[in-house]
Amino acid sequence: MSFQIAIDGPAGAGKSTIAKLVAERLSFIYVDTGAMYRAIAIGLLKAKADIDRDSELQKCCDEMDITIEYHDGEQVVILDGENVNPLLRTEEVTEIASKSSANPIVRRRLLALQRELSTKYNVVMDGRDIGTVILPNAQVKIFLTARAEVRAKRRYLEFLEKGIPCDLEEIRRDMEDRDYRDIHREISPLKKADDAVLVDASELTIEEVVEKVLSICREKGL
Ligand code: C5P
Repeated sequence: MSFQIAIDGPAGAGKSTIAKLVAERLSFIYVDTGAMYRAIAIGLLKAKADIDRDSELQKCCDEMDITIEYHDGEQVVILDGENVNPLLRTEEVTEIASKSSANPIVRRRLLALQRELSTKYNVVMDGRDIGTVILPNAQVKIFLTARAEVRAKRRYLEFLEKGIPCDLEEIRRDMEDRDYRDIHREISPLKKADDAVLVDASELTIEEVVEKVLSICREKGL
């Protein structure tokens, strides 16, 4: 049986950084589910679909071919034969992914793909509904969060590092809007699973959070 580690939490809490490092230490596969929602957003943008019309969303989701590959341990999302990794993090894609992921058509489209990966490999999977909906029987569930100002600052520094001009207040506002949508949507809202361990990373270093997650894994017999 495969071992499943689910990491959920709001934007900017450090989920992907932590999940990647934990996966590396354990020789597990890191599954970034946000990237899959982002890939769907790219497909919707390419098709110029009206995301408020279910019929268009359904048609696009049915026609899209999404596969996940691993190149040197790195998750690569292939949309209709093209590696879309370089396109995943634009502002436009971020906005459409946040909005379209609230639609059950989009969520249904990715459910099987995400579950299938977790049966093939030992995984560290991050997202918003992994511990609650996708992998309810995961052996380890973490709800990773941090104070809003810490999360916004982190994103701000990431942008600056990449040479992308940005405004801290605007980042914070956008992030809060996206979190609000994730928390308040009807289907698979962002919330801590009852059996998840809450980790507040506001005052912790990356290494401290990784160590905490690994110690929770050890407690669970890994
Ligand atoms: O985590 P990331 O910011 O890459 O996710 C992109 C968007 O996909 C988020 O804004 C969130 O609304 C959505 N998402 C989701 N469920 C997941 C992962 C991401 O709804 N499991």
